[in-house]
Amino acid sequence: MLSDIEIAQDAEVWPIEKIADKIGLEKSEWQPYGWDKAKITLGHEHDNDPLGKLILVISINPTAAGEGKSTVTVGLGDALAKVDEKTMIALREPSLGPVMGMKGGATGGGYSQVIPMADINLHFTGDFHALTSAHNTLAALIDNSIYQGNPLNIDPRRVLWKRALDVNDRALRHATIGLGGPTSGVPREDGFDITVASELMAILTLSTDLMDMKQRIEKIVIADTYDRQPVTVADLGVAGALTTLLKDAIHPNLVQTLAHTPTLIHGGPFANIAQGTNSVQATKTALQLSNYVVTEAGFGADLGGEKFLDFKVPLLGKTPDTIVIVATVRALKMHGGLAKDELKQPNVAALQNGLANLGQHLSSMKRYGVPVVVAINQFTDDTAEELQTIKDYAAEFDVPAYVADVWGQGGAGARELAAGVIEATHQPSDFTPLYTPEDAAIDKLNKIAQTIYGAQGVELSEKAQKQLKRFAKYGWDKLPIIMAKTQYSLSDDPKKLGAPSDFTIHVREFVPKLGAGFLVAMTGSILTMPGLPKHPAANDIDIDEDGTIRGLF
Ligand code: ADP
Repeated sequence: MLSDIEIAQDAEVWPIEKIADKIGLEKSEWQPYGWDKAKITLGHEHDNDPLGKLILVISINPTAAGEGKSTVTVGLGDALAKVDEKTMIALREPSLGPVMGMKGGATGGGYSQVIPMADINLHFTGDFHALTSAHNTLAALIDNSIYQGNPLNIDPRRVLWKRALDVNDRALRHATIGLGGPTSGVPREDGFDITVASELMAILTLSTDLMDMKQRIEKIVIADTYDRQPVTVADLGVAGALTTLLKDAIHPNLVQTLAHTPTLIHGGPFANIAQGTNSVQATKTALQLSNYVVTEAGFGADLGGEKFLDFKVPLLGKTPDTIVIVATVRALKMHGGLAKDELKQPNVAALQNGLANLGQHLSSMKRYGVPVVVAINQFTDDTAEELQTIKDYAAEFDVPAYVADVWGQGGAGARELAAGVIEATHQPSDFTPLYTPEDAAIDKLNKIAQTIYGAQGVELSEKAQKQLKRFAKYGWDKLPIIMAKTQYSLSDDPKKLGAPSDFTIHVREFVPKLGAGFLVAMTGSILTMPGLPKHPAANDIDIDEDGTIRGLF
């Protein structure tokens, strides 16, 4: 089997104009970025277009390699497109940090990929560069204001806005800046987050248009004053400049799959530290232009799934018509206690031990009242008995499960899955949100922890308790909650696999994101700037003199 990059480089790429034609875009509604990418902006005349069926793809708690959520999303999209040409896919943009690190890209794999794969995984249409530039421009403006006489009375020890970079660089998590004497600024402690954790990334993925984006940016809380009053971007007076830097990044990017299914890729917040879904605009646009839209939310149902359903759905104004949970034999065997190097060996007993992880996600997703389907992403080492074991288990929950070989066969490997999904989207559904906006923060947290994770409850650190009291003064305590939690476990301890039940979720602090409109609850030891592994993916990537890339998965 060829590698992902070999398959992608061999692919026949249609000029983007042909893809734009396929979805009926007018000339004024899209702008080419080179010959195989475009940015699109739908006019207001589409505001009342009927929306297509929405299919949300999520997964069980993954292994470090990922369980093929993007791969299944693409393969399922291609399979649906064979049934109904008016099918689109809506994905997140890959972050460069993990591309050079461990996790890999986010354009699918095998014969279920989005192309141009290398471009999308590297610099794409420049959205992440625009975000990083806007983020760091704001950081520089804050420090400049402190340096230029500090008219806003900002306490340099309480600046909340860090710097950002789309590189996994653990050495920058904590930094001291402003050294070098009086002309080089005011020394203070600072640090870097990865760009996908930036509040601007969250804002980009939530804004409905430029003016909505500007208003959201104005509300970002950047620091406290010496007398502990919040300082916002509006106080600094730079929302216009930051919005200007993001004027193109706000538009969804159009590309295609290997089978030429039109695909929107836009916005890329991680689901373990941010809201983990692609942009509201991209999903909405795809829903306006097609009959079926397949989208994904990051990591497991506990992270991306919960955030999509509780946070994105109200902003999107559309609930999913079907939820697809991706499961793999290898991840379930890992949840059943096997070590990483034992996952390729057949072992039904270990698989059975690990099935409870899928069980927790099935129960938690079923409670939302939307039809649920399991997609078993088939790997070459899987045995028929192992695959059947997962199907039988899902049947105990009244959930249909389909084996999909989208990696090996593309859309042709997901015919049965697509038929099952179409049937599910026509079943009645009765969406029931997990919490109401009026719920107190602690109630929201407990509902997420108990219902979605299977935890006993939530424990707040002293700092988190004090923060909530203070936030109540400003009404911030009623904001939706975005959990920052490890993706590997239902708990906040990455080593607790399977479906643990005797655990408590520890919230060590909250990070208010007023522009995005949520409170991030930091749990366990999750960090907003990842590091690189011992053998980074960068060591395997190379390029020839004719520009042929190797080792990009
Ligand atoms: P996720 O979206 O869950 O993080 P991806 O779809 O990005 O996962 O897949 C992660 C990696 O696993 C990719 O390199 C992809 O090629 C590979 N992969 C996915 N499915 C399979 C499969 N069925 N067999 C072999 N490799 C796979």
